[in-house]
Amino acid sequence: MTKKPLTILLASPRGFCAGVDRAIQIVERAIERYGRPVYVRHEIVHNRFVVESLEAKGAIFVDELDQVPDDRPVVFSAHGVPKSVPAEATRRNLLYVDATCPLVSKVHREAERHHQSGRTVVLIGHAGHPEVIGTMGQLPEGSVLLVEDQAQAETLEVSDPLNLAYATQTTLSVDDTIGIVAALKRRFPAIQGPKMEDICYATTNRQAAVKAIAERCDAMVVIGSPNSSNSKRLVEVAANYGCAKARLVPRAGEMDWDWLGDAKRLGVTAGASAPELLVDELIAAARQRYDVTVEEVRTTDENVTFKLPRQLVA
Ligand code: SF4
Repeated sequence: MTKKPLTILLASPRGFCAGVDRAIQIVERAIERYGRPVYVRHEIVHNRFVVESLEAKGAIFVDELDQVPDDRPVVFSAHGVPKSVPAEATRRNLLYVDATCPLVSKVHREAERHHQSGRTVVLIGHAGHPEVIGTMGQLPEGSVLLVEDQAQAETLEVSDPLNLAYATQTTLSVDDTIGIVAALKRRFPAIQGPKMEDICYATTNRQAAVKAIAERCDAMVVIGSPNSSNSKRLVEVAANYGCAKARLVPRAGEMDWDWLGDAKRLGVTAGASAPELLVDELIAAARQRYDVTVEEVRTTDENVTFKLPRQLVA
């Protein structure tokens, strides 16, 4: 039977960012250095495939520090942790390695700086996301105001509008955040913010790459896990920029090919925590069903790398 033609427009950059790459290397090096098992507090990055691969190498993922035995090392995830976590690890004399992405640590420091200068910090982000919990946990309880969307920015009440600053989660929608920041600035003209946006280069670049192909695609697949914030944002961006349908697919085996219908051009990208292998897997699965032509559309080159913590390279 002749296969129907399908053009895959492959967004680039896509997939792993420097922070995710570093976090995975940290767990692998910690296992090499300290032996098995190495405990990891929370999913090191939001991707099941990555988590299972690390489990196979000797990592044990736990929710909280009290599940870590006194004599084993523990790694903190790329999303960052509240200050209480390293404090508790130190109290228990645990050997810990912090895999917080340096771009998340930068937001932590900004929030601290504003707090020390007497400003109330408004954090733009999604309630319950580990990064938001970690950033809020840099300051004393109750001193960060969380704003999730523009409606909340419009109704936010603050006690001292002249002493206000904002910071953002690193993996937000660039477009939504512009609206939220504009609302805050209109309501509180003295509010201070970062010189450069807190939304990281990887989130920005992956969203821009999707915007560049969205209109040309009949459908878009974002390879990523349902709990990955930046992956979910890519689905929204595709829909907002003219792609008729877009969805998150964790792995090729979970792809509903009937959903494609008569699509002739399929956009494919991957969230910052999804390995390229999963993109290859999806393309291979598409080739079994269609006569596939792949066209990569690159909007920018990335060359960001982060150093590993000294304790793992010395
Ligand atoms: S998405 Fe951005 S902030 Fe998050 S780990 Fe990657 S580079 Fe760091």
